[in-house]
Amino acid sequence: MNKRHFLRRGLAVSAAAGVAAPAVAQSSPAVRWRLASSFPKSLDTIFGGAEVLAKRLSEITNGRFQISVHAPGELMPAFGVVDGLQAGSVECAHTASYYFVGKNKAFGFETTLPFGMNQRQQNAWMYYGGGMQLVRDFMRDYNIVNFPGGNTGVQMGGWFKKEIRGVADLKGLKMRIPGIGGEVMARLGAVPQQLPGGEIYQALEKGTIDAAEWVGPYDDEKLGFFKVAPHYYYPGWWESNSMYSFYVNAKAWDALPKDYQSAFAAAAAEANVDMMAEYDFKNPQALRRLVGQGVKLHAYSTDLLRAAQDAAFELYAEESDKNPAFRKMFEPWMKFRTDVMIWHRFAEQTYTNFVQNNPPKRSG
Ligand code: CA
Repeated sequence: MNKRHFLRRGLAVSAAAGVAAPAVAQSSPAVRWRLASSFPKSLDTIFGGAEVLAKRLSEITNGRFQISVHAPGELMPAFGVVDGLQAGSVECAHTASYYFVGKNKAFGFETTLPFGMNQRQQNAWMYYGGGMQLVRDFMRDYNIVNFPGGNTGVQMGGWFKKEIRGVADLKGLKMRIPGIGGEVMARLGAVPQQLPGGEIYQALEKGTIDAAEWVGPYDDEKLGFFKVAPHYYYPGWWESNSMYSFYVNAKAWDALPKDYQSAFAAAAAEANVDMMAEYDFKNPQALRRLVGQGVKLHAYSTDLLRAAQDAAFELYAEESDKNPAFRKMFEPWMKFRTDVMIWHRFAEQTYTNFVQNNPPKRSG
């Protein structure tokens, strides 16, 4: 008897005996959801996070729970997903909370705030530090249940036509940088511009902007910024991590069987970890290629970073004074940020500093 024959026979026997399989089928309804992504397919690593979720969910549920992934414009515009979920016109979305700071700056916390935490610290805050509950309480008004759904890690600090030696060089500088990071840049004298990814290269080439930030080496290389703005700065202090999210309409969530809810949470957690690992695999290779093309890497000066950090925390104090939703999240966020950074300062930072500065004598 060959193997396939044996398997088929085995299945026939257990089905006839009424073991396990029929009971599972009864409690596993066919569920089909649509997911609206806020990310262009060109950001393949980020867009791919929703595909990781959908694939794993289908595998865990034997194909009973299917999610179709839709690019911006197919179901709704990229930045229409919160309205779409609130109205119940789609079951779920993959997005970044900070796209919605125009509705309320408290949307910033889930993705990141300038001078926020790194990816590990953000995960710790969300999964254990009370962040998830704070975000879920806030999201209730929007009929949304949220899950962490990927991260870029610390982003790069953008592409500049000319060197930026200090804060004075930012005066009047037109830079593509969205959100609260853009507001902080404006406080330092720059003129933030909002431009979608596909329009940045041309604006840099024509000189209608002087600088632009996007993501990191892997994504930035594809858009070719190095050809028109060769000075590549780090770190992207406005995105010390960039945590993306799966958003689910609360009514659709409540209607799911418990085992599907658990499967969704597990698949989302996998997508959250997977994206960071994929970026940490792709970025070193892209950075090497960029440097090979003559890109000049520069660290922002400590003075500039200090000025930017002070401006950011002034903004947070002002916002806390006038926005109770922001204040409610800012205070515990700040406390967690302080505590986790003290811990990371010892073993993590000392080890990282040592290995970065002291390569082994024998590496072969
Ligand atoms: Ca960015």
